[in-house]
Amino acid sequence: MKPFLLATGNAHKLGEFQSLLPQNVSIGLPPEGTQFPPETGETYFQNAYLKAASCLPAPGHWIVADDSGLEVDALDGRPGLLSARYAGMGASGLMNCQALVREMKEVPPERRAARFRCVLVVLDGDKGSLLASAQGIVEGRLTRGILGEGGFGYDPLFIPEGYQVTFGILPETVKNRVSHRARAVHHLLAVLGIPGAAP
Ligand code: IMP
Repeated sequence: MKPFLLATGNAHKLGEFQSLLPQNVSIGLPPEGTQFPPETGETYFQNAYLKAASCLPAPGHWIVADDSGLEVDALDGRPGLLSARYAGMGASGLMNCQALVREMKEVPPERRAARFRCVLVVLDGDKGSLLASAQGIVEGRLTRGILGEGGFGYDPLFIPEGYQVTFGILPETVKNRVSHRARAVHHLLAVLGIPGAAP
């Protein structure tokens, strides 16, 4: 096992990964100024691969990248791959949430099902080869308005299955147990043969 580099510019994600990985696995960010490519892939896997490859070479490291999104049944799976820029390029989490609240305004409670999906890719930082990939999903439903200030992105709109409040309200410890990212990390550790903290 080698230390991980997380191919992201999203500080929230680094925090989540640190909480999700076992303590003997170290994870850090690539050097400041690393440019991440536009997410032009047609799948989460392709986007995650592109992000990870943008950190090559990374001698002595495993590069991990994730691509994730929110899929809303009533919107035929949108925003999906375009989740980060649903309200336009460079949109904040709040702007994306507000746009989704507007678009879902007339949708009744029984049609508000949604899920977060996360795909992880790990590349060998020396050889550039693909070491592993994994996926995680959390099912849930969307609230009518923004509830809570925790987390990031669409967290204040999403109530995971089995709970009554959003990821924006639930303690981080709960999100880190049931989230799409937690489940993807759990599968990834199994593929890499690293004994892991189970979600
Ligand atoms: P990306 O994986 O960095 O491309 O992120 C895609 C977008 O999906 C993010 O900008 C968020 O809007 C949304 N997203 C992904 N994971 C989460 C999450 O755990 N909570 C809330 N929003 C998320």
